[in-house]
Amino acid sequence: MKMPAVKYARTFPRAGRLVKVMFLSALLWVCVLGLPYFLFMMFFGNAGEYQKWWAIAALVALLLGVLLRIIIYVLSTKVRCPLCQGAVFQTASCRMNQNARKAPVLSYSTTMVLDMCIYRRFVCKYCGTPFRLRK
Ligand SMILES: [Zn+2]
Repeated sequence: MKMPAVKYARTFPRAGRLVKVMFLSALLWVCVLGLPYFLFMMFFGNAGEYQKWWAIAALVALLLGVLLRIIIYVLSTKVRCPLCQGAVFQTASCRMNQNARKAPVLSYSTTMVLDMCIYRRFVCKYCGTPFRLRK
């Protein structure tokens, strides 16, 4: 799980798409984590005038989550690794490269998004090539 050094990382062509998917994924996580919270507050929070707003918030989080998932799916088919042509954001059942990074509880794609947010670098899960988002 060690991040490769910067000097080995290649620049990712058209990183804009990648950043777009990254932000949408982060937003999706907010929805996914927010929905149970809103539902909990709706049923067990202070009953009263706020209950209606918790219900609306839960509905918005649900619809936005579904919408984001569709947008991310459509965008992620276009984001491909320039070396191995693997769709880096999509889930595949094939074996991943031994250099692919995966946090214990999270999936490969989620770990990748986290790497992009924290290090501005990521490792292609199919071919193990390190990429950086900046030039
Ligand atoms: Zn690759």
